[in-house]
Amino acid sequence: MVAMMSGPEADAIGAALAPHQFDEEKRLDALYRYLQLDSARDEAFDLLIEAAAEICQVPYATVSLVDRDRVWTKAGIGMAQGSEVPRTQAICAHTIVEGDFLEIPNLASDARTAGLSRQREELGAQMYAGASLVTGDGFRIGTLCVMDREPRQLSERQRRILGGLARQAMALIELRTHERQLKDALERAEHLASTDTLTGLLNRRVLFERLEQEAARSHRYDTPLSAVLIDLDHFKRINDGYGHAAGDAVLRSVGKLIRSAVRSADVAARYGGEEICVLLPQTGAEGAQRFAESLRRKIGAIVHEFDGHRLSVTASLGVASTAPGLATVDPQALLKAADIALYRAKREGRDRVVIAD
Ligand code: GH3
Ligand code: MG
Ligand code: MG
Repeated sequence: MVAMMSGPEADAIGAALAPHQFDEEKRLDALYRYLQLDSARDEAFDLLIEAAAEICQVPYATVSLVDRDRVWTKAGIGMAQGSEVPRTQAICAHTIVEGDFLEIPNLASDARTAGLSRQREELGAQMYAGASLVTGDGFRIGTLCVMDREPRQLSERQRRILGGLARQAMALIELRTHERQLKDALERAEHLASTDTLTGLLNRRVLFERLEQEAARSHRYDTPLSAVLIDLDHFKRINDGYGHAAGDAVLRSVGKLIRSAVRSADVAARYGGEEICVLLPQTGAEGAQRFAESLRRKIGAIVHEFDGHRLSVTASLGVASTAPGLATVDPQALLKAADIALYRAKREGRDRVVIAD
């Protein structure tokens, strides 16, 4: 349908519309849920406007989104991607209030556009035709439009194709939004599946995956790999004395401390109940010992406040490292060695670091 309105009634923005289509707040909600404003250049949109410019034989074509106070260019020929104009200066702002299609054959003589200096003076545009981008629930969030330097009218065929390209642009916006939502959901699911909820550390499954990978890498590049096993001392006493929730709170803050103490390449995971394992790639025995000592001091220094009580816990740590130049790096043997060292730390009095032989 071609709307060629002029005169004062055309200035009454939204006058001829179904009420819900010009609930501006709802329209903006619809626009914002597509997450497209200020997004990067996308060649699929470029192709649509190239087709529009070619079909209509014009030097200007854009896909534009109409925000609260600005019209932003998602893709443009003759106008830069990512550029914007104030909404009050944009013809597209009229298109979305007037209908699904707006054609103004002579911008200078039309009441709506006679006062818009930008298009006419800066771009030398004399005609405009735009099709609204209409969401599935009926909101017009932007346009696909063309402009020419001569006053003229489009043919029926050109109008029909412009409308079709606008529907394709809208479908592409939907697709991009779904892709993005899917990616976000996958990232969230991956995070959930790999993270221990209480401590925020990686879980046991991921620990063993990463251990295999790091052992292979350590072997391939002949770089050291260390494992540090941490077990909280007399943790049962916390649970027995102050309740399970107190134990949980302690584990939570120890988890937080360890997460902040490791480098991004390290792997910090909840190994068991109150046992935590940290893998240190490219770190030999000396570096791992320094790390473990510093961690032991930091864990012991936390004052846990719970129900008016101030508690502290100590930890015992076992450290094992691969020997340089080994024929293979056995990940299970590395953990086993760290476990034996941890057991010795417990036996020798707790609150200490023991290095595996
Ligand atoms: P040790 O110094 O020998 O390690 O003494 P311990 O009391 O810490 O002994 P052990 O490691 O055998 O016991 C660990 C306790 O940690 C047993 C279990 O009830 C508790 N625990 C394990 N997971 C959790 C948890 O998620 N929350 C709480 N609150 N307690 C846990
Ligand atoms: Mg313990
Ligand atoms: Mg334990």
